[in-house]
Amino acid sequence: MSIKDYFASLFKGVWSLINGLQVTGKEFVTPKITERYPENRDTLKIADRFRGTLTLKYDAEGNHKCIACGICQMNCPNGSIHLETKMVELPDGKKKKKLAKYIYDLGSCTFCQLCVQTCPQNALDFSNEFEHAVFTREKLIKQLNYLPEKEIIAPAPKPAEVTSPEAKEENKENK
Ligand code: SF4
Ligand code: SF4
Repeated sequence: MSIKDYFASLFKGVWSLINGLQVTGKEFVTPKITERYPENRDTLKIADRFRGTLTLKYDAEGNHKCIACGICQMNCPNGSIHLETKMVELPDGKKKKKLAKYIYDLGSCTFCQLCVQTCPQNALDFSNEFEHAVFTREKLIKQLNYLPEKEIIAPAPKPAEVTSPEAKEENKENK
């Protein structure tokens, strides 16, 4: 190694050391924040985009938008979603598939959010609930449709149309 190379290498090493110390020095004077968890549980700020646990979105009337299509179940790479469905008869006599149970296994979920992104009804979301400690894995299996499924109510029948001329007259008089 020539003298020139020796000093070039020495200078490079010292410059690298100064750079490293700059980072250390900056952190040394930065104000420290200590989270007093769990004492600060009520005031703890969790980022909005944090993926804590999968939820089925309910509106103020207690309705969710899941149509039991099964797309989330098919797209989940870990099999963390299991849907139980039932067939119900509509007021017009047609049959329709409805959600019976939406089972989610938090223990095997990788929070990839594929289920949320592919749901055609925008029925799913991640809450930022993060306290999941339990004693057995079975307790991590949750039913997301926690409110009872609503019955389909038949629409009120329309008033019968007045057809005969006498009935039309009578109808006019009553008005
Ligand atoms: S949550 Fe969405 S994707 Fe999953 S079954 Fe319901 S409507 Fe389909
Ligand atoms: S976030 Fe990913 S792993 Fe978790 S339930 Fe949804 S699709 Fe499955």
